[in-house]
Amino acid sequence: MAQQTDLILKAFLINGQWVSHEQDSFESINPATGQVNYRLSTANKADVDLAVHTAKVAVQQPSWCDMLPHVRAQILNRLAALITERAEDFARLQMLENGKVWTECKNQATSAAATFRYYAGVCETLGAEVTPSRGNYLSMVTYEPYGVVAAITPWNSPLTMEAQKVAPALAAGNAVILKPSEVTPSAALLLGELGLAAGLPPGILNVLTGHGAITGKALVEHPGVRMVSFTGGTASGRAIGMVAADRIIPVALELGGKSPHIVFDDANLEAAVEGVVGGIFEGSGQSCVAGSRLFVQRGVYDKLLEILIERTKRIKVGFPEDESVEMGPLATFAHRERIEQMVDSARQEGGHIVLGGKRPEQPELTQGAFYLPTIITGLNNQNTCVREEIFGPVLCVLPFEDEKDLIRQANDSMYGLASGIWTSNYQRAWQVARALETGLVWINTYKQLSISTPFGGFKNSGIGREKGINGVRIYQQSKGIYWSMDPRNLP
Ligand code: NAD
Repeated sequence: MAQQTDLILKAFLINGQWVSHEQDSFESINPATGQVNYRLSTANKADVDLAVHTAKVAVQQPSWCDMLPHVRAQILNRLAALITERAEDFARLQMLENGKVWTECKNQATSAAATFRYYAGVCETLGAEVTPSRGNYLSMVTYEPYGVVAAITPWNSPLTMEAQKVAPALAAGNAVILKPSEVTPSAALLLGELGLAAGLPPGILNVLTGHGAITGKALVEHPGVRMVSFTGGTASGRAIGMVAADRIIPVALELGGKSPHIVFDDANLEAAVEGVVGGIFEGSGQSCVAGSRLFVQRGVYDKLLEILIERTKRIKVGFPEDESVEMGPLATFAHRERIEQMVDSARQEGGHIVLGGKRPEQPELTQGAFYLPTIITGLNNQNTCVREEIFGPVLCVLPFEDEKDLIRQANDSMYGLASGIWTSNYQRAWQVARALETGLVWINTYKQLSISTPFGGFKNSGIGREKGINGVRIYQQSKGIYWSMDPRNLP
């Protein structure tokens, strides 16, 4: 497609300087309208090299590496305050780029500021350790930064993911090179700008825009990058993990999911349906923790399905800036095509599309990447839509007989990110929660998240845990120090 050169060209950030490439750029498209928002510069291999070099220099400067933790915390707190001030700008940029509804975009900006405040607190309070000595010596553990960390983020909740990586990585004393998704690059650029305003030395937070295959790949392969923190699809995570294995550097991988959402026959069905609807259709299903496999106990299957369909029919699909809208468009047109292919596969494999399964028909929505909330029954655990992550507003509903049957079906997945259980039997809730092979379990709620609780997946959903106090530790390496107390060893 010919590029419209009269559009704004956004630059990326290296060492406090904005760099742009007029000839090497890509477009940001508004998925609600199909219109081009602006152009962005592609950071090429030479840019990656410069960014890593300047980050390496910056992280070794006394102005950063000798900065006391409570002073670093002040910068993180200032950055939190600036994010709060600019929350509406962040929300608008995200809405323009991935089509998420306004309230959700604003909530994500608020939560990103809270993440910076949380890690400012952690930075000031988390200490090193003196370990139990087994002789006449003092033994200690200190925690040191890796140096230059690459943070690579997806498009579904860009600022949230960026805050979740950048805040702890900086609190840990690293320099960060942030590579946002090519679909949602602007929040990261604004974060880079505010980081400088908050007092981060130039080079401590560089932001590179571009595609994964060019900018992301060059970054992960660069010998100066000592750790990679990645959130995105399982296939990309595997590719990055292979490079990291070859280079013998640590990775934190937050990957895809196919989360089971479970309703027992003793559940509050109305509350469960609200949880199920929010769990899959919020953000148009473009959430790693989307409850995309709904297991309903046989005795309440028909009743629950009826309430669910009635509730889902009331979801208003439309333009994300309209505050009465619950579901905006999908983030890209290509993503909608992929989802349509998945739903077609369900049709071919004998599934019944009991709701949705198509684009909305209102003429004003035809230019956007809209898709209706979709409910599919009649599939089993071997079918494509039940096994593979769709990352869209598509819910597969399956019956189960008892706990044993449920656990077998729910755990029959290569993913293990999250799960939800609705029941009034506390003993059952506990037993099922312990038996589910997922990194997160919600009981009588769904998508409840907080920065203070570790987040991450089992199985192909990832390696490592972000958030929580120990979210800082993935950006540090421990060092054991033994110090003899034997006076005979002194002169
Ligand atoms: P993606 O894997 O296509 O891209 C994610 C990021 O990685 C982008 O910035 C992309 O440019 C970059 N990238 C892609 N290939 C790369 C490579 N070989 N080397 C370096 N960088 C590379 O994912 P997406 O489509 O942007 O996001 C959707 C996926 O993210 C879904 O699978 C979703 O489940 C997952 N996700 C997971 C979590 C979690 O916390 N577990 C959260 C949000 C999204």
